[in-house]
Amino acid sequence: MRRIVVLLLACLLLPIAPSYATAIVDKPTVLRGPGQAKYDVELTGDATGRSWRGRERIAFANTTGKPLTEIYLRLWGNSWDGCESPVKLSRFEGGSAGALTVNCTALNVKLAKAVAPGERWMVAFDVVMTAPDRLERFGRVGAHSFFGNALPVLAVHDQAGWHLEPDLGVGESYYTLAADFAVRLKHPAALQIPATGVSSTVRKGNTVTTTSVAKQVRDFAFAAGPFQQSVVTSPGGTKVRTWWTGTVTPAAVADARTKGVAAIDDFSRRFGKYPYGEVDLVLNDQWGSFSGMEYPGFVLLIAPPDEEGPVVHELAHQWWYGIVGNNEYADPWLDESFATYASYLHWGDPQPDCWPGELEARITNDMPFWKQYGPGWSRFVYSYGSCMLHDLERFIGTPAMERLMRTYASTHWYGVSTPTDFKSAAEAATPKDLAPFWTSHQMY
Ligand SMILES: [Zn+2]
Repeated sequence: MRRIVVLLLACLLLPIAPSYATAIVDKPTVLRGPGQAKYDVELTGDATGRSWRGRERIAFANTTGKPLTEIYLRLWGNSWDGCESPVKLSRFEGGSAGALTVNCTALNVKLAKAVAPGERWMVAFDVVMTAPDRLERFGRVGAHSFFGNALPVLAVHDQAGWHLEPDLGVGESYYTLAADFAVRLKHPAALQIPATGVSSTVRKGNTVTTTSVAKQVRDFAFAAGPFQQSVVTSPGGTKVRTWWTGTVTPAAVADARTKGVAAIDDFSRRFGKYPYGEVDLVLNDQWGSFSGMEYPGFVLLIAPPDEEGPVVHELAHQWWYGIVGNNEYADPWLDESFATYASYLHWGDPQPDCWPGELEARITNDMPFWKQYGPGWSRFVYSYGSCMLHDLERFIGTPAMERLMRTYASTHWYGVSTPTDFKSAAEAATPKDLAPFWTSHQMY
């Protein structure tokens, strides 16, 4: 996510190299689950695209290492309205719905049987989602509806138990494992549907079915409305679809598209090739509390942008949150510091002397800490975390830092990283003793 902050950046675009790192799939040492999930979703929209109903099936493997008698679904779409519940589930198969907890954002599902380690199981349920009337990621703006953090997804279980963190309203709560999605959205032909994944459409009369397929993504977002769109393919081979609401100017569209094409190829060269084939830039000229928000293969953007615009930052999140996952609630710096650092790399700004010295709060704090800290928290997690990475680059040298970023990405590709994982990767990337560096940057 990108809060509305002002960043002054040099506009130096780096050249695009044709070779990319080879990615390998993460082999976690921590048992997390349910894993290897396949979401199969079919929803039918109303005439306006605001309300959708249908069925969601989630097949998964028990990768937790012990018998699984329950799962939790995260209904993040309920986080602003609590138990007023704009996301409603019913008619369960494969298990029975228990209590809604965590402000109605977590639903316990007792499985119909104890699922053995390694065994697969499936739950299915009816879904009704109605976009609330607000300028938000899950909301309705004029004739356009946005379904970010709306579709129910599996919660994560690991050695700490179930992760049922609350939504703090600023992003940085969403922790999921990579999964495959196949989503069919039936809607009036007058509606356009940007969505996570590679999308295709079939029209029958006045009804269109938009089918979106995405492999190894952590979430599925879409929007519905009378969007205009353009499609270009980047020199590196990624299809960049730009979608915009009616009042976004042609100049703002062109700006986002140009920056998006450059960024997706630059980050592919730096961190490993963007694996999803297609990315959707979804532009709107008003949002309530943010300037950009990342979803797999789908980013929400304010247009026109500020000096830099959020597009580069949100596309950096395709790697740092999306491909390389993390528990955002526990370690927000692992996605935001890295997305910010990546943006500065892209713009060619090494941020000399930006580390401010002794900090009153460590950048590695968790979201409960930052919630208490209040306004200004993002300076630490976004800016100072990025400064730490720039300092690390200066300390170990740019070639070693470039290898580190690529190796770190490939090691955790589609997996989950932790602060220990990153520090270990950094220590393996240089013969230098990093202990003094971690101490001087309060990274302990
Ligand atoms: Zn962000």
